[in-house]
Amino acid sequence: MVTTYAINAKRIAEHITRLGEIGRTADGGVHRMALSEEDRQAQALVTQWMEEAGMQVRLDNFGNLIGRKEGTNPNASLVMLGSHIDSVPNGGKFDGIIGVVGAIEGVRALQEAGIALSHPVEVVAFCDEEGPRFNGGLFGSRGMVGRIEQKDLQHTDLGGITRYEALQQFGLQPDRMAESIRKKGEVGLYLEMHIEQGPYLEAAGKAVGIVTGIAGPVWLNIRITGEAGHAGTVPMNMRQDPMVGAAEIIHAIEGICSADPAAPTVGTVGRITAKPGGANVIPESIEFSLDIRDTDPVRRDHVFNKVKDFIQQVCDKRKLKHDVQVMMEVPPMNCASHVIETMTELSQKLSLDAPHMISGAGHDAMLLAEITDIGMIFVRCRKGISHSPKEWADTEDIAKGTQLLTETLLRYARA
Ligand SMILES: [Zn+2]
Repeated sequence: MVTTYAINAKRIAEHITRLGEIGRTADGGVHRMALSEEDRQAQALVTQWMEEAGMQVRLDNFGNLIGRKEGTNPNASLVMLGSHIDSVPNGGKFDGIIGVVGAIEGVRALQEAGIALSHPVEVVAFCDEEGPRFNGGLFGSRGMVGRIEQKDLQHTDLGGITRYEALQQFGLQPDRMAESIRKKGEVGLYLEMHIEQGPYLEAAGKAVGIVTGIAGPVWLNIRITGEAGHAGTVPMNMRQDPMVGAAEIIHAIEGICSADPAAPTVGTVGRITAKPGGANVIPESIEFSLDIRDTDPVRRDHVFNKVKDFIQQVCDKRKLKHDVQVMMEVPPMNCASHVIETMTELSQKLSLDAPHMISGAGHDAMLLAEITDIGMIFVRCRKGISHSPKEWADTEDIAKGTQLLTETLLRYARA
C-alpha cells in the first residue's frame, strides 16, 4: 500500500461550514428539508465539489444526487460511497454531511495524487434520509433498492404538497422512478461514514469506530384497559387501574432490556397517554409506545416475547385487558465481515485503533445492505449529541475517518 495522497482537512472543514450556512437557523442549527429550496442550494454546492473531484453528476428520480467516476476497468464492479445532506428541523451540520463531504474529499485527494482506480466509484447524497417533511425517512435509499411504491408518494407535507408534487417541482419524473432502482449485483460494495450520534467513542477516547451492525427497531403500541372510576370513591382494593399496571410493565421493560449486560439491546417507552385523562379519574385505558432495538433479530424477538409474557402476568394479576400491536419492524443488518476485517487492518496501519461498535440509529447503509455488502465508519461527536444545533465533531476526527474511508475505497476499488 503506497499512500501518496493527502486528505485535506482544511477543505473538509470549509465544505462543512459552507453547507451549514444553507438553511442556517437563529441558534446556529440547520433546517434543510428534503426537496426544498435549501436542499436545491445544498445539492448545487455538492454538485460543484463532485465535479471538482472529477465526477459526472446526475439526479435520479428519487432525488438522490449521484456523482460518478469511471474506473480503468469497464467490467469492474461499482463501489458506492454515500450518506445524506438533509437535516431534521433545527438539526446539526454534521449528521449525514460528513459522509458526503468525506467521500468527495477521498475521491478528490486520489485524483490530485494521480491515483487511478480500476473500479467505477459513485458518491451519493441520498434524498430525505431524515424524513420529517413527509413523515417517512430513508426515502432515497429505500427508493434505490426498490422499496418505494406510488402510494408512498401521496404523503403530504404541512403545506398540503404531496411528495409526488415535490419531486416534480424539483424537476424529477416520479412516474419513471423504476428506472432509478438498482438491482442486486449492480453495486459491488457500499461504504458510509457518519457521526456516531451516541457517547461511546468519546467515552472510549477514540476518534473513529468500525460499525459491525445496525440495530433494527421494532415499534409496538401497547394498550392496557381497566375500569374507569371516581378517584375519591373506589377503594384501593377494588380497583382495576391500568395506570398502575402500565407503570409496573414499563419498569419491568428496563430490567428485561438490560438483563444481558453484554447485549446491545435497548428498549424505550417514549410516549404515554391516559384515557379519559383527568386528575380525579381512575383511567379506563393507558396506551404507550415501545421501541426495542438490537442487532440480533433472534435476541430482539426473545426480548419482545419476555415483555409480552410480563404484560400477560400483570394483566392477569390486576384483572386488566391488553392489546399489543406491532406498528413497524425493521430487520437488523450486519456489515460485511470482509469489510470489517479490512477496516480493522487499515485502522491499525493508520494507528487509529478503531473499536468495533454497533449502530443504534438507522442509516441509508441499512437499506443498501439489501442489495450489496456494506461497511460503516463512525466518527466521534461531542457528548454524543445529534439532531441539535449543539451537534459537533472535530475536523481532525472527521479527517481520520475520511482517511480510513479512502484507504478502504483504495483497497476495494484499486484491484
Ligand atoms: Zn444521518
